[in-house]
Amino acid sequence: MTEKAMTALPPGSTIGILGGGQLGRMLAMAAARLGLKSHIYAPDANSPAFDVAAAHTIGAYEDEVRLAAFAEAIGVATYEFENIPVPTVEFLSKRVPVRPGAKALACAQDRINEKMLARQLGAMTAEFAPIDSLEALIKALDGGFAVPAVLKTRRFGYDGKGQAKILKRSDAEAAWAAMRDRPSILESFVNFRAEVSIVAARASDGTFKAFDVTKNEHRDHILHRSVAPARLAADVAAEAIAAAQKIAESLDYIGVFAIEFFVVPENGRDRLYVNEMAPRVHNSGHWTMDGALTSQFEQHIRAVAGWPLGSTQLKAPGAEMINLIGDDILAWQKIAAEPGAFLHHYGKKVARPGRKMGHVNRLLTKTPR
Ligand code: AMP
Repeated sequence: MTEKAMTALPPGSTIGILGGGQLGRMLAMAAARLGLKSHIYAPDANSPAFDVAAAHTIGAYEDEVRLAAFAEAIGVATYEFENIPVPTVEFLSKRVPVRPGAKALACAQDRINEKMLARQLGAMTAEFAPIDSLEALIKALDGGFAVPAVLKTRRFGYDGKGQAKILKRSDAEAAWAAMRDRPSILESFVNFRAEVSIVAARASDGTFKAFDVTKNEHRDHILHRSVAPARLAADVAAEAIAAAQKIAESLDYIGVFAIEFFVVPENGRDRLYVNEMAPRVHNSGHWTMDGALTSQFEQHIRAVAGWPLGSTQLKAPGAEMINLIGDDILAWQKIAAEPGAFLHHYGKKVARPGRKMGHVNRLLTKTPR
């Protein structure tokens, strides 16, 4: 069923955001710019989003008393983190609109559902098989599932966590042990030349807008650099955007989301394989804060508040984002002194290795090569 377009929430209204990390923080800052208030709901008393929001609740995602009070205080709810339990979203949905809805969240929480949906809609993915035991893994490999392959947990994986490579049959035992008995997915290894993502939004009236396709480079499984526009043939870029639109429509999606793709050269042209979907604003869209006419955070707030979407046009021939991970953040003074560098500091107190502490955006004077 298509959710009815709601009348726009006027300035002064409050957006409820589940999750208090940097994404919630940047959403709250974007909301404030439009005259909207944010109320953050998160379990951790040290949530970076609390510093910039009009109100916050410290509560567990299972705490129905606190969730009910939160619903009373807001005009619409959204989330910045896809591991919010689906029952939490269902509980809130009975009291207040939640955007995107539980259907999109449930799909994106499970790698098998994501891949099945992508395939149903005509997109390509890696070959995959559900794996729930060591015996099932060995059976799949003996039955001809090609190696190299990657075993991943179906749920709760991020930044390469919960993944193990299988180069030969004898790797099966160690790979299964790494899953710690969690339901998993076996994926064929994709020989990609690049990883790209689409960050796009769908509004409550069905309007769809995508930012330029972004190329992503990882270090130690963590996003290091994103650059837009990605170098892709125009028809391949259009195919990525069309796939994202189909996925959003099939989920009756409202808000910003990201689809990550592998770019695979086949018979002299690039083919796109859907890797995964994030039902939220995404690290690979951070360049839009300074590089596009509307940032992904403002776009998400516009969509969930029932406002018209903003223009996704680039402000320059290109834009890049570099993540500041762990001690990288110690360079904040140098970056702050660099003309044209846009520093974003998340205000986190402790810089642990691998922790996303901030990012820096730069506009590019030439289209990226
Ligand atoms: P994911 O958590 O699925 O985004 O995986 C993290 C990273 O591991 C991806 O960005 C890729 O660099 C790599 N990876 C994941 N799945 C595959 C695959 N099937 N084939 C090749 N590389 C992969």
